[in-house]
Amino acid sequence: MLTVVASQNGSFGLPDAWKILQDGGSALDAVEAGARAVEDNPDDHTVGYAGHPNIHGIVELDASIMDGATRRAGAVGSLQGYRHAITVARAVMERTPHALITGSGAARLAAEIGETQENLLTEGEHTYWAAEVGGSKAGLLAQVRQFTRDPRDGAGTVDFLAIDRDGNLASAVSTSGWAFKHPGRLGDSPIIGAGNYCDNRYGAAACTGWGELAIRASTAHTAVMAMARGASPAEAATIALRDLFELPTDGLLPLMHIVVLSPSGEHAAATTTAATTTAGARYAWQAESMSELAVSDRLVVQP
Ligand code: ASP
Repeated sequence: MLTVVASQNGSFGLPDAWKILQDGGSALDAVEAGARAVEDNPDDHTVGYAGHPNIHGIVELDASIMDGATRRAGAVGSLQGYRHAITVARAVMERTPHALITGSGAARLAAEIGETQENLLTEGEHTYWAAEVGGSKAGLLAQVRQFTRDPRDGAGTVDFLAIDRDGNLASAVSTSGWAFKHPGRLGDSPIIGAGNYCDNRYGAAACTGWGELAIRASTAHTAVMAMARGASPAEAATIALRDLFELPTDGLLPLMHIVVLSPSGEHAAATTTAATTTAGARYAWQAESMSELAVSDRLVVQP
């Protein structure tokens, strides 16, 4: 059952992913292509080119990719100067003996595989950063505390999950992370089990939202393991989000959105906020016999 499921901002890249599946391509190629398209989208300020910068005004990207057939995975963190973080993550998986490479090592790998180096900070994002942070003379820690006030502001991520003709699953996650973050801060997106997990036997899941919480609770892995115990995707998404309500969050809503896909192509998405303005309120998907993608509401799971 060919299927692609994505966070709502993935609608932009979903046709690329779908075309690959329809042409008989692999789920891995499909999720990479979908994420690459979103990384190219200059209107998406949460992923790839034109993403939100860190506290120093530098764009740092995180991404991961996972192959459900083998549970091989690759990830990059704090990648500067290369927009296609997902392709570099795939190179970590396929061309190195490692699973996660960060910072200058990730940039080195990007150069080695022929990715183009460029400045990812657009004029618009520079203006945004300069207006919010630019004039501050405070030290780094004070700046991060002052300008990175609420993890629920100024972030976003793209998630892709897919099943190909051979029944293989794959998942891809890419983000510029939390706006004005501390340099070197990694969210959940490059952490396998936190923001991304995929296993042909049980299904796949990927998150967007407050990355620190998904790291603390292994949220994507929680959802997939719920399916391993027999939960449907909707039940698995609910279990994984409910688990976050146990974490102390200084009174803030534990903002999290999750997309979940079973090996048979059943899917669901859930969110901890009922706010309809958030990019996480809906999700995009396409399955066999559909001529175009659909956008559906997520389940709302609240404390
Ligand atoms: N999960 C991402 C991070 O923490 C941000 C987001 O999806 O809003 O970096």
